[in-house]
Order: sequence, then structure tokens, then C-alpha cells
Amino acid sequence: MQGSQDAHFNPPIVLAIDDVPANLDVLVEHLHREAIELTVALSGEEGLELADALRPDLILLDVMMPGMDGFEVCRRLKANPELADIPVLFLTAVNEEIEIERGFALGAVDFVHKPFSIPILKARMNNHLALKRKSDQLARLARTDGLTGVANRRHFDEALDSEWLRARRHARPLSLILVDVDHFKRYNDHYGHAEGDVCLKRVAGALDTCIRRPGDVLARFGGEEFVALLPDTPEEAAVAIAEHMRDAVCQLQIDHADSSACRHVTISIGIATHVPLTDARAIDLVAAADQCLYGAKRGGRNRVVAGQDEENCR
Ligand code: GH3
Ligand code: MG
Ligand code: MG
Repeated sequence: MQGSQDAHFNPPIVLAIDDVPANLDVLVEHLHREAIELTVALSGEEGLELADALRPDLILLDVMMPGMDGFEVCRRLKANPELADIPVLFLTAVNEEIEIERGFALGAVDFVHKPFSIPILKARMNNHLALKRKSDQLARLARTDGLTGVANRRHFDEALDSEWLRARRHARPLSLILVDVDHFKRYNDHYGHAEGDVCLKRVAGALDTCIRRPGDVLARFGGEEFVALLPDTPEEAAVAIAEHMRDAVCQLQIDHADSSACRHVTISIGIATHVPLTDARAIDLVAAADQCLYGAKRGGRNRVVAGQDEENCR
């Protein structure tokens, strides 16, 4: 899902794993002119470490290696959800049907037999890299909101589930910031739906500038609502980020003639922070933030209300 390079700007990363240095030398010699970034590993263990660190777009894997053989490396890659999507192409002297079948059953996309023809290897690599690029693009589209370019609801729901479990495992605070554009129906009514769309894009862009850590997720929650999920973040830090968001949207100074308050587009924000208990549910975190958002609306809009401001949340 993550980590693979955008093929338009960065060459794809190929990791070759083989215990015989001379075999790797052959690959380096013949592939160094290709538009790829080739990295090599001399054992299964080293290969797995590099796969985790580099998130390559293709792995060329020798079958017979002392210690951990290629089949075991492949099995471990496929068992790790973070690495399972990396295509594995076996490079092998093994030519027995049963072994080849085993490799495919473990999730390999292809076999190339040693001694291999370099043009055929290159052609196969290019095919698999092109497929990988396409599936990365699809995966990216499937988790992106088409209008604003931030993550979509589906991606948020998945991130919430996994971060909730992680926070529970480590007994760490998970914060959720719920953002709603103020009087947006009036904005649409006054400026038209197309301008409304432009406004939402600009608001999303401003919110995005306030999200810094790689684990944070900003998503469109639906309509004119956005949500930020902040792992390992206590309430005070979430409030600071939310105030920053509110300010960033004010700074856009998007005219809103029909807004009750300041004649510019503003946002209201509700925040909840939970250290999940065993029987608590992720949906409770969303509900708590929603209550606070309601408090912010009732309190006059263009403001931030967090879980501790209990009287505002009832
Ligand atoms: P409040 O301050 O209480 O949040 O009032 P509001 O008008 O923002 O809230 P309400 O829920 O009544 O209206 C939300 C509006 O957002 C109505 C809907 O047409 C508009 N909206 C939702 N999604 C989109 C969108 O993708 N594009 C545009 N242009 N408008 C949208
Ligand atoms: Mg709303
Ligand atoms: Mg609104």
C-alpha cells in the first residue's frame, strides 16, 4: 500500500536477493543502464530487512540459498501485509515442475531460469513493473477523495480501525479532530455549487498544511466535513493542531457574504482523545468528537471544542 515510488518521478526500486555475489554482479552489470534503482542482498535475512526498509517494486529472488531459502523468503513476504503486494520473480536453476508450482503457490508472479537471457529477463521485469505501477495507482485512487485529493472515507475507516487497535495495545492516546465548514449550505446557495467545490478544495489544502507527522491521516469525512486522526497524540497537542487548522482556514480569507460571523469561510472543530479500554469501540471516539463539534456549533461556530470542555459537549 505504501512506500513504493511514484514511477513518474522516481525510478522503480528492484531488490535482487542471491547468496552468490557473482550472480548479483551479472545483474548489476546488465541492468545498470535500465531506469531502475537496483539494490542487492546476499541472504534471505538481509533481503527481508531491505524489503521492509525500501519497499521495492519488484524482488528478484534466488531459490537455493543456505539458511533461509527463497521459498521461505517469499512465504514471509506474503505473510506481511505491508510487503505482500511486492511482486516476487524467482531467478532459479531449479527446473522441476513441483518446485515451480510451489513457488507460484507461495505467491510468486514469475520464474526465470538460470542461465537466463538478459533481454527476456528485462522484458519480464518491465511487464511486472508496469503492472505494479498500475496497481499502485489504483490503490492510491481507491483511498483518495476525488474532489479534494485528501484521503477518502474508506481510507479513514481503515486507519481508524488499525490505529484504535494499536492505541489499545500500547495504551496510548488517540486523538480525532472533526472539522465542519460553517454555513456551507448558504455558501453554495450564494455562490453556486461549483464555487462550493473550489472552496472545499482550498479548505482541504489549508487543513493539510497543519498535519505533519507521517502517521497522521487527514480525510474527507463526507460532504463539507473533514477528519484528522492523530495517533499517539494527547488532547493538548490535538487542540494546538486544531487551532492551527482554524487559523489556516481563516487566513484563506474566502469571502462568505452570507456567513453570520466574519464574512469569511470559517470552520468549527470537535476533538476527542481516548486511551482505548478493552471494551471501548472506535466509533465512540467519533461520536465523542461529533458531540464536541455540536458544542462548537452551538457555541457560535469558528471555534474548537475538545473533550475536556464537558459542558460544551452535552
Ligand atoms: P453548519 O454551520 O451548521 O455546519 O451549517 P451548514 O450549512 O454548513 O451545514 P448543512 O449540513 O446544513 O449543509 C452542508 C452543505 O454542504 C449542504 C451540501 O449541499 C453541501 N455540500 C456537501 N458536499 C458538498 C460538495 O461536495 N460540494 C459542494 N459544493 N457542496 C457540498
Ligand atoms: Mg456538516
Ligand atoms: Mg457545515
